[in-house]
Amino acid sequence: SKKRDGKNGALLYDPLLQDNTRQRAEIERDIEAGLENDWLDAFFQPIVDLSTGIVKGYEALLRLDHPEKGIMAPAEIIRVAEETGAIIRVGNRMLEKALSNLVQLTNATGNDKTYLAINFSPLQFEQTLPIRFAALTSRHGIAANRIVIEITEATLLHDNPQIRTILDEFARYGCRIALDDFGTGYSSLSYLNSFPVDIVKIDQSFIRSLVADAPDLRHKSRMLVEGITAISHKMECTVVAEGIETEAQRDVLTQFGVDCGQGYFFARPQPVQHLVDLEDIHETARSSVA
Ligand code: C2E
Ligand code: MG
Ligand code: MG
Ligand code: MG
Repeated sequence: SKKRDGKNGALLYDPLLQDNTRQRAEIERDIEAGLENDWLDAFFQPIVDLSTGIVKGYEALLRLDHPEKGIMAPAEIIRVAEETGAIIRVGNRMLEKALSNLVQLTNATGNDKTYLAINFSPLQFEQTLPIRFAALTSRHGIAANRIVIEITEATLLHDNPQIRTILDEFARYGCRIALDDFGTGYSSLSYLNSFPVDIVKIDQSFIRSLVADAPDLRHKSRMLVEGITAISHKMECTVVAEGIETEAQRDVLTQFGVDCGQGYFFARPQPVQHLVDLEDIHETARSSVA
């Protein structure tokens, strides 16, 4: 129960606040333990060409495999890491994992055409990032043109000239830039105009409402997705829809000319070893037919 000081009602003790503080401290400890004990990993989620069903690439998504809590999703981990500054070490570790997993998958499948999309926090965008990144990809023997840099408008928000320089440097190496969670921010369209964006990822909230029960919402979100796709194509961007969970959503998006899709309908984010095993199964199936 809350205790207030009699005079001005100021909050002296707020159990909810204390819970949050405790929870945050626990996540901080999980992050440090995760770095220390190598519990961080990059899961891969396939990104599929909607008209052919072919896997064009993967998105690397952070997971923390905690021995007691199991596999922890990234949203809170990233948020806390951004607050404490641990995001730099988490981001660097994630890059290592993502690239070495891509090498493992490439070696297992023999397919060196698929791309890998990696999420970056605004705090990671400092001057030395591109050069460090280039060194890392070349050490792993990965062509820079297989890498997509995923950023949200939070990275572009302040129209900082340094951000532009960093993006241009990535582009010069041959990396592509994806604007993530498109449509949820304040002035998304202007970013297409002023930054070197190659890929637009339509936020999953729009994809969800494509099949909403309310006809009005359904209609409007369809108009929006169709419009965003048309504008993106005019700006020579590839369009990826996030969070596709049903065949109905896939069909509508295909009809609107959306290029690629990602979502549980196709595959969940998973450890790279699962994707390798899956490839082995296909390989066995193919060779037993031959
Ligand atoms: P995001 O970059 O927009 O990633 C897509 C999110 O949608 C992922 O959540 C993915 O698991 C989820 N998703 C994919 N398909 C479906 C679907 O069909 N239905 C639903 N409901 N969800 C789907 P996840 O893995 O929990 O990641 C959440 C967010 O955390 C990411 O959103 C990204 O913003 C951030 N994040 C993840 N990994 C990293 C990282 O390595 N670095 C940074 N800075 N952020 C990361
Ligand atoms: Mg992303
Ligand atoms: Mg997204
Ligand atoms: Mg998101």
